Amino acid sequence: MKVKEIISLLKKEQIRITPQRQEMLSILKNSKQHLTAEEIFNELGKQFSSVSITTVYNNLKLFVKIGIVEELQFGEGLSKFEWKAEEHYHVICSKCGKIEDFYYPQLKEVEAFAQDLSKYKIKDHQLQFYGICNDCLGRERKAGEHHDMSNL
Ligand SMILES: [Zn+2]
Ligand SMILES: [Zn+2]
Repeated sequence: MKVKEIISLLKKEQIRITPQRQEMLSILKNSKQHLTAEEIFNELGKQFSSVSITTVYNNLKLFVKIGIVEELQFGEGLSKFEWKAEEHYHVICSKCGKIEDFYYPQLKEVEAFAQDLSKYKIKDHQLQFYGICNDCLGRERKAGEHHDMSNL
């Protein structure tokens, strides 16, 4: 979505385009990462020292509601936020929580199948993959070597 489209969307929803909101949007748009509310808060605080975490949460909720930001829920109340770009899936490291994006044609046929089975009107789906990232694998391997050494 282009900035222009977003601004007209905000206007349509009667959401005031404050400097803080603008900055939050650019933080999210420019980040290649998936950010927690705290990370956004810290980044925002560099320019707006008076901003509160509650404001950040409220704005995030707003952005999610109007569909420009995506919330990824990882249980235990941990959410990460990302700019809503092209539909994609996530691979998550179950050790350190690092997230990688990957693109795969939308699994629309699965949605159709779910709809046929349940007779629900399916609107969305979530699919996440869990594994161990390269960094963590490397660390495990090193720890393993250490262990072997101590047995000698
Ligand atoms: Zn990891
Ligand atoms: Zn992503």
